[in-house]
Formats: sequence, C-alpha cells, structure tokens
Amino acid sequence: MTQHRGMVIVGAGECGARAAFALRENGYSGPIDVLGEEEHRPYERPPLSKGRPGGAVPLKEIATQAQWDSAEISLSLGTKVTEVDRADRVVRLADGRIMHYDKLLFATGARARRLPLATTAPVATLRTMSDAQHISSIAVPGSHVAIIGAGLIGLELAARLRAGDVDVTIIEVSSAALGRAVPPELAARLVQRHRNEGVRFEFDAEITAITDRTIALLDGSQFTADLIVAAIGAEPETGLAEQAGLEVRNGITVNVTLATSDQNIFAAGDCCNFPSPRTGAPVRLESWRNALDQGEHAAANMLGASREYQKTPWFWSEQYDLTLQVAGLPQPGRPFVRREPGSGATLLFQFDDDGRLVSASGLGPSGSVAKEIRIAEMLIERGARPDPRLLADAQSNLKKLLRTG
Ligand SMILES: Cc1cc2nc3c(=O)[nH]c(=O)nc-3n(C[C@H](O)[C@H](O)[C@H](O)COP(=O)(O)OP(=O)(O)OC[C@H]3O[C@@H](n4cnc5c(N)ncnc54)[C@H](O)[C@@H]3O)c2cc1C
Repeated sequence: MTQHRGMVIVGAGECGARAAFALRENGYSGPIDVLGEEEHRPYERPPLSKGRPGGAVPLKEIATQAQWDSAEISLSLGTKVTEVDRADRVVRLADGRIMHYDKLLFATGARARRLPLATTAPVATLRTMSDAQHISSIAVPGSHVAIIGAGLIGLELAARLRAGDVDVTIIEVSSAALGRAVPPELAARLVQRHRNEGVRFEFDAEITAITDRTIALLDGSQFTADLIVAAIGAEPETGLAEQAGLEVRNGITVNVTLATSDQNIFAAGDCCNFPSPRTGAPVRLESWRNALDQGEHAAANMLGASREYQKTPWFWSEQYDLTLQVAGLPQPGRPFVRREPGSGATLLFQFDDDGRLVSASGLGPSGSVAKEIRIAEMLIERGARPDPRLLADAQSNLKKLLRTG
C-alpha cells in the first residue's frame, strides 16, 4: 500500500508557521501538516512582554485562518507529537493519530526554564499567550511583582508593568543585567533607566526559599509579592529529537543547511544548534528573526535547495522609549569602538583579530540606531574590515562603507 506522505512540521510557532508558508512560496504543492501543542493559531511572542499593560494581551497572529486555508496548509492545534519513528518516517500524536512524512521539520522552540528550587509556591513564567494572560490578571495597578532574572524578558516585563503602575523588584543572581548577549555598558544604561522608573534591583542575590508569595535570600532579606515570575531563560525543546536518536547538544544539532544527521529531518529556530556563519562555532539563538529566517531557509532545503544558512544573528528589545538592537554576537572581553550619532544613541562595535567587524550593538530612543545597525549587519555578513576610525566618527556616513567595504 502506498502511504500518503508530505511535509510535516512539528511546532506551530514563528518558525513552523514561516516554514509552512515558505514551502508553498517555493512551489511545493503536496500536503503540509503543521502540528502544534498550543491552542492558539501561531502568534508573535515579542508583544507578550512589551507595550502597555491593561486590557487584553495583544494576540498578533502570524496568519489568519483564511490565509492558512487559502495556502492549503493543514494546521492542527492542541496537538502534541509524542514520537518520531525515523525508520518508518512516521510521527505519532497524543490523540492516537499517525502521520507519514517525506521530510520532517523540528520547529519545537524552547520552554521557559523553571527555578532549580523545590517549592510548591506558585511561580509564573512568560513564554506563551496563556502565561501573559495569567500575569496580566494578577499584575494590576498597585500590585507588587517580583521578577527573578534580569535578562531581556525580565527587563521588558518590568518596563511593561511599570507603565501600568505595578511595583517591580528584580532579583538577579549575578552582579549585572543581561549576561553576555549585550555589552555591559548598554546593559548598565538600561538598568539605570529602570531604576529611574522606580524598579528595584537586588543583584548578587541568591534565593534560598520561596514559600507562598515570599522570596528568601541568602543574606537574610525577604520579599513578598502578589506575583513571582521566573524569567531565567529558556531551554530548547529537544525531547522528541533525543528519543528519535538525533544528536542533541544544547539544541538539536544541524549542519549548515539546517539538516540533522537524518537527511529527511531538519530543525530550525530556538530548538536548533547550528554552525555560526564564517566561524562554524556551534550556536543556538533565541530570537524572533532567527526563527523566521531559519524556518524559511529550512523549507527551501526540505525541497532540495541545499543552501547554507549565512544570516547574521540579530535581535532587538524595547524597554520604555529605548530600543536595543544587536547584530552579530558580542564577544565578552573584546574592546569596543564607540559611535555617538546624537539623540542619546550609542553604538558599540567589535572586531576580530583579523580586523573583521563581528558585532554591533546600539541603544537609544526608538528608531535612533536602526539604520546604522542595519548597515553594520550587512558589513558583518560580508566579512568586511571597515576602518574603526570611520565607524567611531559620528560625522562619517556608514553607507559609504558598504560601497567600499
Ligand atoms: C515574551 C517573549 C518576548 C520576546 N521578545 C523578543 C524580542 O523582542 N526580540 C527577539 O528577537 N526575540 C524575542 N523573543 C524570542 C522569539 O519570540 C523566539 O525566538 C521565537 O518565538 C522562536 O520561535 P520558534 O518557532 O523557534 O519557537 P516557539 O515560538 O517556542 O514555538 C515552538 C512551538 O512548538 C510547540 N511544540 C513543542 N513541542 C511540541 C510537540 N512535541 N508537539 C507539538 N508542538 C510542540 C510549542 O508548543 C510552541 O508553540 C521573545 C520571546 C518571548 C517568550
């Protein structure tokens, strides 16, 4: 008996949705099945931690049902995939159904990391629409929210809550915010802005216990809040891939074409660990554009394109009226070249030992760094060696570097 096979995508987030539409845009006319555990049609996660609180959490769908229908993509929601059988090229679903595939894409994303602490106290996280709705229902004006973790999502949530007159304390185990992904100077500036807005920070704070709504720290201090949110990062969703015998090392290991060691299976977005363009060093990113770009890229390669993924990492964050944008991967310990283009914006560039631009980070009022980061991103992608003095000179037109670099 011939089996009815097609393209199967596990995970209906940014990456899975973009991959499905890209399969059609690349001319594929066979069956496409997108299987997602969440109940909502695929939506954008970035708005969940941004903007003003109050009222309904904004649900920004990636495509309407009419668009899914007109592209003839079958979207199964509330559907968990429980097993991938590579020998028979079949996936099994929690509801008992099985599906046969020609090519399979893992777009399973990541889940919020849980606190490594034995507690029965309610500790919220922020990854999904339901998480955001839960936070909004408790974080009303005048309430107090304790956020554990001064990473991007913790800081964005703090800004959102302050705009709604919610009292916010951020508890961070290390001595600074934003870890390695953001240059320390820009991270410190963001922390200062939060302080000016009334956010309290507890750095170097080790939590020893959480009971009911009270957090106890090693130094003996205690904080009681109406809501505790753990914003301590995310872990790639790799259980299915592991069980299927694929290599998993901080994400599902893929090669430059986003294929796994099984030629019929690809992985993309937050769940995958891929070789960095140029250096080849393995990297896993949790960023909106990476999920979108890799989803589209994987789709083309599922159809046989065999193209190498070369995009420069890029992400943004919004806190109050400030926008942060980072292109490339900032290298801790490497010196920065600074550019001050005016209106309170700061750009910091880094070079490798061969003089190639490797990262550009910018912070400033909304829109003030976008153009220059975009140019830097193109320079990084080309492996360009721009003159650091020109980058530092606020009067120099960076566009010229694109023509000469
Ligand atoms: C609150 C928040 C704010 C953010 N803000 C920014 C930002 O400002 N800038 C930025 O660059 N990035 C931001 N991000 C990151 C960005 O949203 C993610 O990188 C992106 O959503 C990843 O997309 P993905 O499709 O790879 O994974 P996900 O969005 O995690 O989607 C994966 C989907 O797969 C489903 N799934 C997993 N396992 C199974 C299974 N076995 N069966 C069926 N379905 C399964 C999951 O339920 C999930 O719906 C933010 C993320 C969050 C949570």
